Amino acid sequence: MPHNRPVAINPWQQRIRRAEKLAIQHSFAAKILGFYIHVARFQQDVHRTLERSGGKTEVSLSSLPKFPELLHSFPAFLSVVEEKAPAQFAQIARDLRKSSPASQSDLLNHSWTATTEPEVAEEFVALAFLQPCAELLRSRAGLQVNGYTHSICPFCNRKAALGVLRPLGDGARRNLICGFCLCEWEFRRIVCAGCGQEDQTKLPVYTAEQFPHIRVECCDACHTYIKSVDLTKNGLADPLVDELASVPLDLWAQEHGYAKLRPNLLGM
Ligand SMILES: [Zn+2]
Ligand SMILES: [Zn+2]
Repeated sequence: MPHNRPVAINPWQQRIRRAEKLAIQHSFAAKILGFYIHVARFQQDVHRTLERSGGKTEVSLSSLPKFPELLHSFPAFLSVVEEKAPAQFAQIARDLRKSSPASQSDLLNHSWTATTEPEVAEEFVALAFLQPCAELLRSRAGLQVNGYTHSICPFCNRKAALGVLRPLGDGARRNLICGFCLCEWEFRRIVCAGCGQEDQTKLPVYTAEQFPHIRVECCDACHTYIKSVDLTKNGLADPLVDELASVPLDLWAQEHGYAKLRPNLLGM
């Protein structure tokens, strides 16, 4: 009989397992999580390939990193999106796959360098593809985030896509997470990550019975919201995946007039 030894699994495998579990629990999110699983598998392969690549890996945020494999893998990623994504993304991927290598490269360059919120579906597809590259470069940069107090990602300058509450003593501390390079840094709990509002009465937090560990942190000053995954309430949660799975909370927040600070990689 084989020993039941715990096997070290990488972050993608962890996210994939969590997505598989949540897809069974939440039928409304099954489709989106099913798609995410295919994206995550591809991202894992891209990360592995780039990690071993002999290409130049100097960290540059002003131009697309010169990994020779990066541009070459984009059409294969587009095929995955075309096959597995919800209809709207599938069509975009189909059109992109037929476009010239030069326009594909332009899109990737633009998505890598633009730190503002993506506006068109093409950019979400490009950002999902580039995400493992951003994560790899950020982890290699050896960034020190202690003492960093801003709400913008200290590595890639994008707005945070989600928050996480991690146990600290008897309570919890809030960290923000960049949805692109996955940098995580501490950010004061009672401050809006969008506009810096500190008046607690203007910062309502909503939760739903369905997701007791997910907080919808709103701001009545700038009318934005961010979802935070509370690991003190559910230690099995994966911030990135649980954020994706709690789609009904996004619909709820948006119906109530709040705009998400930064959409997640699936454009929600
Ligand atoms: Zn970042
Ligand atoms: Zn605000």
